[in-house]
Amino acid sequence: MSGDGPRLRDDLSELVGYHSPDVDVDVRLNTNESPYPPPRGFVDALAGAAPRIAYNRYPDREARVLRAAIAASIGVDPGSVWAGNGSNEVIQVLLLAFGGSQRRALVFAPTYSMHTKIAEATATAVVTEARDADFTVDAAAVEDACVRHRPDIVFFCSPNNPTGTLEPHDAVTVAAADSRRLVIVDEAYAEFCDETAVGMVATHPNVVVVRTMSKAWSMPALRLGYLVAPPELVRALTPAHLPYHLNAFTQEAGRLALDYGAEMRTRVALAREERGRLYAELAACEGVRVWPSAANFLLFEVEGGPGRAGAVWEGLVRRSVLVRDFASNATTPGCLRVTVGTPEENTRFLAALRDALAEVRP
Ligand SMILES: *Cc1c(COP(=O)(O)O)cnc(C)c1O
Repeated sequence: MSGDGPRLRDDLSELVGYHSPDVDVDVRLNTNESPYPPPRGFVDALAGAAPRIAYNRYPDREARVLRAAIAASIGVDPGSVWAGNGSNEVIQVLLLAFGGSQRRALVFAPTYSMHTKIAEATATAVVTEARDADFTVDAAAVEDACVRHRPDIVFFCSPNNPTGTLEPHDAVTVAAADSRRLVIVDEAYAEFCDETAVGMVATHPNVVVVRTMSKAWSMPALRLGYLVAPPELVRALTPAHLPYHLNAFTQEAGRLALDYGAEMRTRVALAREERGRLYAELAACEGVRVWPSAANFLLFEVEGGPGRAGAVWEGLVRRSVLVRDFASNATTPGCLRVTVGTPEENTRFLAALRDALAEVRP
């Protein structure tokens, strides 16, 4: 803000918010959403539950029923689960509790930009280290970065957005070796792969796994995310979050959604199949390099540098296909990220990409 208005915090005035260009297109493959709505049975059950909510009362502050249901679905103790309005709020509360002006967070780029933005909004210092050429982080590099920066918080993202790579188990273990350090593993896409760090929570007092209902569960509109952490750590969050932060409707929605796990797994299986097809077809495109992905999206590089990749992105938009443009980011030069859509959407994307590549010669 400028002029006569209220003075924005000095440390925020330089920062820009989350920004993903929103263009009106037929095929939206830019935000890693599910192309399918949640099951009809869930939507009907939620509508049926709506009249029974006690709207004149505050919701259960502890979200006990929801947390017990989430805990049962992943095989942990209810006291190990805490839920919030999307995993972004969960991460914000973690940073409010464990970050702040005297603390430093470490991230490995390229990764989910919200980790840095949430840290900055909570006045937490951020140091950024580069990933390897294959976008992984090895344990030795993590150890070295921890020695040099002495971070209070280390972020991992597994599978990592936007690269689709998994964080090696020993890299997370090394970061967690100092029990005073908080290690956050963002598993927004865990359902699309066979690996999780949830098992580490039982053996490490300082490891937190963050999950969301926004991707595999097809309900980003309802804003529900959760964390799995040692119960002591969950209790420590209380002063950092608002009372009654999670509304009764969202609590009910989350509880009901968990009854449709089989349907979620069917959607995920289809996405994994289509991911395999997209990977093979992208790998077969001349002048395209694609990375293996454990999530519902693929990162690929367009030969010819950021300029050509940007032109290919525009060529896709002209064909009414929207993907995410990472071409001018320093750590992902020339790269675009495509979300796995329906089989029809994926076929349309591939055809549009071939045309756009032919149109913009290297
Ligand atoms: C999409 C995404 C989220 C989801 O955030 P919500 O607030 O739960 O919608 C979290 N982390 C990563 C890495 C993501 O890509």
